[in-house]
Amino acid sequence: MRIDVLTLFPEMFAGVFGASILGKAKDKGIVSLNTVNFRDFANNKHGTVDDTPYGGGGGMVLKAEPIFGAVEHLAAGVSGTNGQTKPPRIILMCPQGEPLSQRKALELAEEDHLIFICGHYEGYDERIRRYLVTDELSIGDYVLTGGELPAMVVIDTVVRLLPGVLGNERSAVTDSFSDGLLEYPHYTRPAEFRGWKVPDALLSGHHAEIEKWRRRQSLQRTLERRPELLESAELTAEERKWLEEQLSE
Ligand code: SAM
Repeated sequence: MRIDVLTLFPEMFAGVFGASILGKAKDKGIVSLNTVNFRDFANNKHGTVDDTPYGGGGGMVLKAEPIFGAVEHLAAGVSGTNGQTKPPRIILMCPQGEPLSQRKALELAEEDHLIFICGHYEGYDERIRRYLVTDELSIGDYVLTGGELPAMVVIDTVVRLLPGVLGNERSAVTDSFSDGLLEYPHYTRPAEFRGWKVPDALLSGHHAEIEKWRRRQSLQRTLERRPELLESAELTAEERKWLEEQLSE
């Protein structure tokens, strides 16, 4: 996968792209992570990327030309060099976008090329939203200073799903939201700490019993913390009955 990030602050990405799982994925050649300063695509010698809003009001608005220029340059360059036929997904980071979810991350992990646009200031010229991007993504109902941290969140979520990134010792399959439920609790040695014991089922060595305990814990935890997730989760008739019993108690 190739990921390009359009930003006015490329230096913010150095640590995140170079460390831990993202850094390793890059070193293994599973993903290429690039930043592009769209100020380089400004159409005047002062490198102006923003302007005052038509109609007045506070804040500055990011201009259309530099962002269209940078995206078109990237899209043409990549499809011309590696024979990629699939057009890139062009993702605008904005608080008004679709809320990020594990399902969306799985969808994006199928792509060959993602281009993220990180905003700043008051907002974007609306023509970027209407005529350039394929997706608008939000990381939650709050407003950050810029799209850089949100883009990092999305990139991390997507890259860890790419084959070969997490390795055999760690799989994303059991993570919360992957099967529509929250994940079960984990324990490690010692079996007893300050009198608090690890549940017997986990010490039993009996695979089926462990799986059953985990599934029940997953259901219980989802019921307690995020009951709305249960409406769309795939559950057996027995599990639905068990949940109804919990609710009636
Ligand atoms: N005036 C805009 C509004 O009310 O929708 C908010 C602009 S915000 C100060 C500047 C930039 O930060 C946005 O263009 C976007 O790129 C980014 N941003 C802020 N909050 C975000 C969120 N929750 N999710 C994704 N991006 C966000």
